[in-house]
Amino acid sequence: MPPRDYYGILGVPPNATPEEIKKAYRGLARKLHPDVNPSEEAQERFKDVTAAYEVLSDPAKRQIVDLGGDPLAPGGGGGPAAGGFGGGFADIMDAFFGGATGMGQRGPRSRVRPGADALVRLELDLHDTAFGASREITLDTAVRCSVCDGAGTAPGTHPQTCATCGGRGEVQSVQRSFLGQIVTARPCPDCGGTGSKIISPCPDCAGDGRVRARRTVTIKVPAGVDDGMRLRLSGEGEVGPGGGPPGDLYVEIHERPHPQFTRDQDDLHCQLQLPMTAAALGTEVKLQTLDGEENIEVKPGTQSGTVHTLRGRGVPHLNRGVGRGDLHIHFDVITPTKLDGEQERLLRELAKVRGEEEPTITVSSATSTNTGPGFFSRIRDAFK
Ligand SMILES: [Zn+2]
Ligand SMILES: [Zn+2]
Repeated sequence: MPPRDYYGILGVPPNATPEEIKKAYRGLARKLHPDVNPSEEAQERFKDVTAAYEVLSDPAKRQIVDLGGDPLAPGGGGGPAAGGFGGGFADIMDAFFGGATGMGQRGPRSRVRPGADALVRLELDLHDTAFGASREITLDTAVRCSVCDGAGTAPGTHPQTCATCGGRGEVQSVQRSFLGQIVTARPCPDCGGTGSKIISPCPDCAGDGRVRARRTVTIKVPAGVDDGMRLRLSGEGEVGPGGGPPGDLYVEIHERPHPQFTRDQDDLHCQLQLPMTAAALGTEVKLQTLDGEENIEVKPGTQSGTVHTLRGRGVPHLNRGVGRGDLHIHFDVITPTKLDGEQERLLRELAKVRGEEEPTITVSSATSTNTGPGFFSRIRDAFK
């Protein structure tokens, strides 16, 4: 008789991990278990997959299979367990019931549970995200009940041992199975697995050990934070059931749009509109930056789309601790409109002097180096 194809029976490849073998067996067993599928064919297959699992989940037997043998064949060198469940029984039950047969942790579980994290939004102006700020925020979270100090019991009372589970926190049930009686344990439904019941709940928290309360927290916002960042305040979140340790408080930064500056990480951009004459003749203009008013030199002959960069006038680098981004000023030259008679005459005069009455037009392909105000509006759109 050739060796049986145990891998094929479970539908796993020869290099399957123990986890994959267990998973495959569990899946097949759920379909073929006599309680689920009483047909004779299913029972035969169930025996086969159980045998295959017993072999492949045992490293020694699996090695025999991998060497071309059959540990379950009569006289096949499979040892004393050949043909039976042998020492594989616990493993099989474990695989079939997913470890619910009581191999997990025992005893009552604590009423005290860790609390959840909390999240609040904090709106800030660019000046505050750039240079840091201190803000007091008011929030509603669960805090430890001061009446019972988290215990959940009315003053002078104590939890009583649960009568249903006798304080063990779990109840057992007996099921009949093809393998005999199976005892399974599950958390006691009466006490929620805690083994005790609060007979006289605290009037303030109704036994939860925590109450909702409004409180004020001071948030120190470091310089250089950006829109969407979250600051974590350890232990400032929700207190857990039974007065359990609090979660963390996350403060999500929302930066209000600035009327003048668009932010790109730590760089700032703004658009500065210049009359054509100022752009041609050159001038000096005043610009309100984050650091106050600054004089900006406009060189004679400044073109639309020219970018003037003020180094270190952007947002401080949060991660590096030192240095700041830059402020990029995009010049936008405005062509005059609504010319009156005198203005038009002067411009025509200028055109004549410059030999531009019939101008020579140069056409070139559009490049990203000088696409004028459109470049800036694209930047702006990217951050909306
Ligand atoms: Zn209370
Ligand atoms: Zn109980």
